[in-house]
Amino acid sequence: MREAPVEGKRVLVRADLNVPLADGRITDDTRIRAALPTVELLLKQDARVILVSHLGRPKSRDELSMRPVRDRLARHLSVPVELAPGVVGEEVAAAAERLEPGQVLLLENSRWEEGETANDPGLASGLAELADLYVNDAFGAAHRAHATTEGVAHLLPSYAGLLLERELSELTALRDDPERPLVVVLGGAKVSDKVGVLERFLEIADTILVGGAMCFSFFRARGVGTGDSLVEEEGISLAENVLEAAERSDCDLLLPTDLVIGDSFSADAERKELSGIEVPDGWMGLDIGPQTAKRYAEAIAGAGSVLWNGPMGAFEMEPFAAGTRGVAEAVAAAPGHTVVGGGDSAAALVAFGLDQDVDWLSTGGGASLELLEGKELPGVTALGQDGTNGRDEG
Ligand code: ADP
Ligand code: MG
Repeated sequence: MREAPVEGKRVLVRADLNVPLADGRITDDTRIRAALPTVELLLKQDARVILVSHLGRPKSRDELSMRPVRDRLARHLSVPVELAPGVVGEEVAAAAERLEPGQVLLLENSRWEEGETANDPGLASGLAELADLYVNDAFGAAHRAHATTEGVAHLLPSYAGLLLERELSELTALRDDPERPLVVVLGGAKVSDKVGVLERFLEIADTILVGGAMCFSFFRARGVGTGDSLVEEEGISLAENVLEAAERSDCDLLLPTDLVIGDSFSADAERKELSGIEVPDGWMGLDIGPQTAKRYAEAIAGAGSVLWNGPMGAFEMEPFAAGTRGVAEAVAAAPGHTVVGGGDSAAALVAFGLDQDVDWLSTGGGASLELLEGKELPGVTALGQDGTNGRDEG
């Protein structure tokens, strides 16, 4: 978008403003802040900015208005932000028409329109009619072919926003041309979420460190008892395949050698450190153990680049946060290039006050995993090779 002729033009910007809410209040505005540079650049160039995003999963138009997002955006941008009465339609078109250079109009929640997730051509053309140019900056939604992320890109001269561009360059560099050794740390709830990345990075990385509930599928695949731990049953055969692939690969796949266990899934649970990995009945593995955390931290410290996705344990509960904190601190202190992706891993970094100490904190959970796996992102493909869809203006 840096070279796009935006002066005086109406620019439809698809941002990812899908922030978490509690009782109608924004609990974390990271995504709004991440969207600001693109909007600020457009305003500086006297564009008329029309922003659109989805917010949660509304069941009707009475739910999940963009109003709180509008208020927060206006505060960060220090310019008034008008909230449109809908996503498309006559009144929205009139509001877009009234917009002056340097002003911002925020459309309502794109999921108020059924055509959004269906990538309906009618909705896409309704959106295209509002603007002269389209900028996609919504990396977090780029793995979905929706009307605001994909359909509309075919109807207007289209460009990549600054956030989308940076996300693509950070993640593709890790995948295609990493500083070595490349150490990948994978944790979180389910093997099935991460199996694509695991298999892909067995061919790319030098070391993969596995933690989180996901490791219990691996232990079961090896016939190790997991007690009452959270085990994704369908993950067991996936883990078996990954272990077989690891045998053939030059990459080292490391699993925990000790654990922290609790007698219930609760912050008040009785907590024990287990020197091995065989979890007794009545207990569940809730964190990697201190030996494992130390070994993982050492690997991270020696890395040329690090990719971390997924917490090492149930870090939301303080008695089981040490493993995730140890990895987070090691990533923050690592001399190599560090990239963190995944909603809960990002939340863990923020909770530990370490989010400023990594080189790149990806805003896209699912999108970052799909890109790392090597899948095409429809929202990116629609922009074309050079970040434009090949159309000239006019
Ligand atoms: P991300 O969003 O970073 O990709 P996931 O969504 O895959 O991560 O997984 C994060 C969740 O997994 C967290 O809520 C965490 O509490 C949970 N979790 C991690 N390890 C365990 C465990 N051993 N037992 C139960 N839950 C766990
Ligand atoms: Mg998550």
